[in-house]
Amino acid sequence: MQGERTPIVSGNWKMNNNHFEAIQCVQKLAYLLQKDDFDAVDVTIHPPFTDLRSMQTLIDADQLRIKLGAQNCHHEEKGAFTGEVSPLFLAKLGVQYVIVGHSERRELFGETDDFVARKVVAVQKHGMTPILCVGETLAEREAGLTLDKVKTQIRAALAKRTAEQVKSMVIAYEPIWAIGTGKNASPQDAQEVIAAIREEVASLISRPAAQAVRIQYGGSVKAGTIAEIMRMPDIDGVLVGGASLDPTEFARIVQYRRHAV
Ligand code: PEP
Repeated sequence: MQGERTPIVSGNWKMNNNHFEAIQCVQKLAYLLQKDDFDAVDVTIHPPFTDLRSMQTLIDADQLRIKLGAQNCHHEEKGAFTGEVSPLFLAKLGVQYVIVGHSERRELFGETDDFVARKVVAVQKHGMTPILCVGETLAEREAGLTLDKVKTQIRAALAKRTAEQVKSMVIAYEPIWAIGTGKNASPQDAQEVIAAIREEVASLISRPAAQAVRIQYGGSVKAGTIAEIMRMPDIDGVLVGGASLDPTEFARIVQYRRHAV
């Protein structure tokens, strides 16, 4: 934990878990997590859109401290955008966090930096927190372009944001080559890139914004790797894909403070 910044552990289920499976998964997770865990760490889950209403009902009925997240949204509130999901509607469902610019959206669905920047604005307009994903491909890393890539993504996404707006955001550094591959950036490598992102926020926005914004690492995080990652001074949490589908594993990730390194 870094100063005043509350750690945040987020589970991105991607296109997994129908709404029946989602209910079971969250009930088990809620059973495994204790008050102390929620006092120390913000826990967000990001189910598919079709699960959100069931998740909202469960979280409300059982007064769970798990926070509801979405995996994406459109930047417009309504209109002729067949198949898209409105940030206004997500807010109505009790969604508090929205992943924006995940590399799968950027790489597989052609989302540009400009499109991602509009979503950041829309998510905050509706009182939700964007989790802005940035990260490089393996080819970019091998060409020494990691910092150029992530700084360009950060500059584009934050261009229209004030210091106060940036302070309340979450950024996720996710090297694309580490997502779903079982390969991790080393904690030191992740720390180096995340420190550079923080510096970029300082020069672009302000030093206080850079100190306040929470920055996660994402890429094949497991219960066995989390503790060392969280020892890095600039890393405030993790965005977890595959390992978040198993409530036991995900609970152990949230409970990283209890593990010996
Ligand atoms: C992700 O989906 O953002 C992610 C980091 O996935 P995984 O943990 O499976 O690499």
